[in-house]
Parts: sequence; structure tokens; C-alpha cells
Amino acid sequence: MRTVVIEAPGKISVDTRPDPALPGPDGAVVQVTTAAICGSDLHFYEGDYPLPEPVALGHEAVGTVVETGPEVRGVDVGDLVLVSSVSGCGRCEGCATRDPVTCLSGPQIFGSGMLGGAQAELLAVPAADFQLLKIPEGIDTEEALLLTDNLVTGWAGARRADIPPGGTVVVFGLGAVGLCAVRSAIAQGAGQVFAVDPVEGRRERAAVCGATPLAPPALGTVMEATGGRGAAAVIDAVGNDATMTDALSCVRAGGTVSVVGVHDLNPFPFPALLSLVRSVTLRMTTAPIQRTWPELIPLIQSGRLDTSGIFTHSMALADAADAYAAVAARTADCIKIALTP
Ligand SMILES: [Zn+2]
Ligand SMILES: [Zn+2]
Repeated sequence: MRTVVIEAPGKISVDTRPDPALPGPDGAVVQVTTAAICGSDLHFYEGDYPLPEPVALGHEAVGTVVETGPEVRGVDVGDLVLVSSVSGCGRCEGCATRDPVTCLSGPQIFGSGMLGGAQAELLAVPAADFQLLKIPEGIDTEEALLLTDNLVTGWAGARRADIPPGGTVVVFGLGAVGLCAVRSAIAQGAGQVFAVDPVEGRRERAAVCGATPLAPPALGTVMEATGGRGAAAVIDAVGNDATMTDALSCVRAGGTVSVVGVHDLNPFPFPALLSLVRSVTLRMTTAPIQRTWPELIPLIQSGRLDTSGIFTHSMALADAADAYAAVAARTADCIKIALTP
């Protein structure tokens, strides 16, 4: 089968590798019909994480089940499914909360060197009953892909920001996750949502959803809009030193900073004293993917949560190198790319 591989920063290829075997009696193999490139895939591409050996990339996929182990009960061969980007054992106390991050065996992420990459023709999925969801009626391919990671992450980032009814929110970073966070914050009852990104076209995309576009630096405008108090809730969908510092500056005393952006491996210079005396709550997470599905799916089906416009391009898997270059350019017109094997 063909799979997208990164050998060194910036060096993407589409390699042929042996078809994956069934990963145990509770596993399944999925033939990927569409995968997506995520902002967090860029950490390998841009050299933030070491690459001692080539890594098969991708953690966002939908496809058709082509093989199941004897213990699989929830899906059958032929089912159209979406795959949680984060994988848990499905059997432990942590997985019982339906948040794979808390799996006692240690959560695993597809396409990070732990499991196979989703940007491929075939994907081996352990604990298939936990990781796979039959694509519900009224959910299209793009929506299903967003339910593997980005929409869930944006939604969870907003939930964990403890947005008070009508409260002022700041969202840093308007890539796919940030744009999902903007829409989630509004759906969860935010008042004014400041959408911060250096790229004007990305701010315009957030404005279309009802946010107030704001070019960085954000602090002055946020303070002015809140009578000098700061925002009740801040969501950082970038996760670098600059945005985390800005997030902690923009939040009001007693407010919450919710980080869903993925930091590099370096320590962050945390303003501990200032955060303490201002009683700031800091939360950081990857998304509790499986847990949010029952909440998000009806909102999408009923049209209350619109995810249109997040995917901007569709390309062939064979053109993955061009697709990665386009995503890494972080332009206004390219937010998220679907890859078709
Ligand atoms: Zn992702
Ligand atoms: Zn587990």
C-alpha cells in the first residue's frame, strides 16, 4: 500500500509499504477513502520534533472497514467509519471516560511513529470498537474528518475555557482548529469573540462566523473592550511561546486560558507569580475525541454547528508533498486539505 512518509524536515514522499496486518483480535483494518492534513502534522515537517527514522504521517481519516478481528462487535466489514485520531485500549478505567488521553496503557496517536499513518491507503486500528464510529446519517465526509480531531479539539478547547454566558472570548490562531474554536465558542454562548491571527484572510473567515477580527497584538484592544479587565476566556489554538504569553496576558483575573495548540519540545517560560496573584486557570489538552461525538453529531446534523469552509482544498495522496507545502505556507486561501488515496 502507499503511505505518506516524512524522512527529514520538509521531505515528504509517498512510499510503498507492506499492507498492515490486523492489530490483534479487537482490531480492524480500514481502507482509507479520505484523509486530512492537520496543523500538528507540521511539527514533523518543520523540524520541531526529532525524526530518528522515517515516520508515516496522518491521524485524520475516514474509510471502509475491510477486516475485523474476532472480538470486534461494533463495526462490520463494509461499514463506512471515521477513526479517532487518538487511540486508547478501550478497556481500562481511563477509556471508560471515553477520553483516550487518559488511557492507562498510554494513549497512542496515529501518524506519530506510534501507530500507522492515516494518510495512506490502509490503516490498522487497534481496539476498533473504541476508535471507530460508523459515520452517522447526515454527516458528510468533511464533517466526519473534522470529528476525528479538529472540530472536537476546537469544541473541547472552548468547553474547557469555561465561557460564561455572554462572556468575552479571545481565540489565538485561525487555522482549522482555531476556526472550529470560534464557532464552538459562539455555539456555547459566548458574547464577543475576538479572532486573532496575523493573516488577514484568516481573520475574515472568522468574521464570517460572527467573530470580531483582530490583528496581533491583541492585548490593547481586548483590554479596551473589557474596561481594562481582560477576557473571561482565552483559547490558544497555536501553542507557541508568543501566543501562550499573550493568552495569559489577555485573560482577566479569575478567568481561564485553554490551550489546544501543540507546543514544541522546549519548556515554556510560565509567568507563575502573575498567574497566581491573578487567580488564572490554565488548562491544556488534546481532545477527548470519543466523548464529544454524542454531543457534537446532533449539533452538526441539525445545522446548529456549521463547519463549512474549513476544508479549502482536495488533492490526491500522490501529491502529498505539494499539499504539505501549501498547508505550511499558512496563507489565507489554504486552511485544510483533504487527501484522496
Ligand atoms: Zn489533527
Ligand atoms: Zn485504555
